[in-house]
Amino acid sequence: MITTVTFDAGQTLIELDAAMLAARLGERGVATTAAALAAAQPAAWQRYEQLVAGGGHDQPWQVFMAALIAGATGVAADAAAALAAWLWTEQPRRNLWRRPVPGMIELVRELRAAGIAVGVLSNSEGHLAALFVEIGWGDEFAAVIDSGVVGVAKPDPRIFALTLAALGGAPATTVHVGDSRSADVDGARAAGWRAIWFGPAAVAAGPGDDPGVAVARDAAGVRAILAGWATSRA
Ligand SMILES: [Mg+2]
Repeated sequence: MITTVTFDAGQTLIELDAAMLAARLGERGVATTAAALAAAQPAAWQRYEQLVAGGGHDQPWQVFMAALIAGATGVAADAAAALAAWLWTEQPRRNLWRRPVPGMIELVRELRAAGIAVGVLSNSEGHLAALFVEIGWGDEFAAVIDSGVVGVAKPDPRIFALTLAALGGAPATTVHVGDSRSADVDGARAAGWRAIWFGPAAVAAGPGDDPGVAVARDAAGVRAILAGWATSRA
């Protein structure tokens, strides 16, 4: 039985708009393309995952962005870091994460129509609810929990507890969907929730031997896993 489902935001519901990023870098005289930025993303995400898993780094977003810019454009590390710092200050007004991940908002609507409480649980900058309004998703979620607002971030169990308090439900009937092994999957499992590890890195790594973790490549995969868990006795 499933009563409650939460989604991570970045690389789960919304992804980096590479064309917008290329245009913003162009404003600063750095020529690149959406394709070059897309090609540089896997290595930059690997860097981000290492930082988050290791803990202690207070600006993983900027490190990710600097690695992405350097990888795509070949600019020197200090110039890439300066561009990343500028983009970070721009995030509240010009959020680069705004491209919907295919099929996910449709899945959100299906779950809601089936009577499931659906929320968002994101490590973000405090402006996620405003972004959702901007892209027309202002009424899609029963709660949007943003670490930049509540002051605690995944995988800290406190943010999972806050989210469940906002949405209702019990840990055993709640599922979190997200792309980060450390923040999303390990965080959810530590809170007693089940987890769907989402995206290509998850599929490549596989779920491991924990029956409370499944992996999905896309929205159809998430739908199938949730349907199976909804009818299971667990
Ligand atoms: Mg994410």
